Amino acid sequence: MVRRVKHIGVLTSGGDAPGMNAAIRAVVRTAIHEDIEVSGIYRGYQGLIDGELRPLGARSVANIIQRGGTILRTARCQAFFTAEGRARAAETLRENGVDALAVIGGDGTYRGAALLAQEQGIEVVGIPGTIDNDIYGTDVSIGFNTAINIALDAVDRLRDTAASHERLFLVEVMGRSSGAIALYVGVAGGAEAILMPEIPVDLDQVADSLVAAQTRGKTSSVVVVAEGAVEGGAMAVQRAIAERCGYEARTTILGHVQRGGSPSTRDRVLASRLGYTAVKRLQAGEHGVMVGIDKRGTVTVPLQDVWTKTKEIDWELVEIAHVLAV
Ligand code: ADP
Repeated sequence: MVRRVKHIGVLTSGGDAPGMNAAIRAVVRTAIHEDIEVSGIYRGYQGLIDGELRPLGARSVANIIQRGGTILRTARCQAFFTAEGRARAAETLRENGVDALAVIGGDGTYRGAALLAQEQGIEVVGIPGTIDNDIYGTDVSIGFNTAINIALDAVDRLRDTAASHERLFLVEVMGRSSGAIALYVGVAGGAEAILMPEIPVDLDQVADSLVAAQTRGKTSSVVVVAEGAVEGGAMAVQRAIAERCGYEARTTILGHVQRGGSPSTRDRVLASRLGYTAVKRLQAGEHGVMVGIDKRGTVTVPLQDVWTKTKEIDWELVEIAHVLAV
């Protein structure tokens, strides 16, 4: 006989991502449908330690599906790195009768959750929310689609002005250790080059290829740079390229605008699907896992796999980008 969950806590942690609100809404409403109580925990693990928790009803998540950010707020919490901090967090859950936790966040959030499960016997399920799309175990994470749409819109606008002035535009997108945003935006925006942390960057080669493109008749170019591709980011690339090929170059750093705004249709649907699945799996007795999505549909993967294994970049798309940038 599978134990039935009576009260779920939900929190968002780490970097915010558009669609987190849709996931919160899905967790709350699915739980209510399953006759499970739900409490929202504010400011991630910090709120869990400080006891910042409030019951959430179906109406308390009305009108949030279209909003970016997270109504529960998010935080980074030093105390949760310690066993004492996690013990205090578990105390909050016990005092409030919460017997399972849905955590919406990234790798770091899951590490914390897995330790809480291991040390304190709390049932946890993870929901992947990060614009970087670098989480192992799911083809896509909540927020990625919105972020690439925003970044692509910026690239399209910059290309208009790049073409008018016959210039080189460098666009820096988010991704300290992942090139997923740069790759998608680069391919969709027809970039002449895409620089990613996964692939060693040879700035001489980049400069040469831009000069060669000019010789072939290209009058303007767009290069998409993931922030972690090169030490110093796109500004460093601009300096190096200007020196090497005498091009007039401009750099635009998109920064946090990529995280804001209303989530796309895809992100809202993904968040709804994953929030629903998280509660259903908890109710069925499955925990210590992250819910994700791949070719098979919704899946679960052990939390431990999420940070011990690395999500591969889409190498076929890397090759396509290269072939199409002639
Ligand atoms: P993300 O979840 O987006 O990867 P972080 O890496 O900032 O974001 O992690 C969010 C929070 O999760 C941290 O502030 C911390 O409270 C908790 N956390 C991260 N890594 C660990 C860890 N190794 N042990 C315990 N808690 C952790």
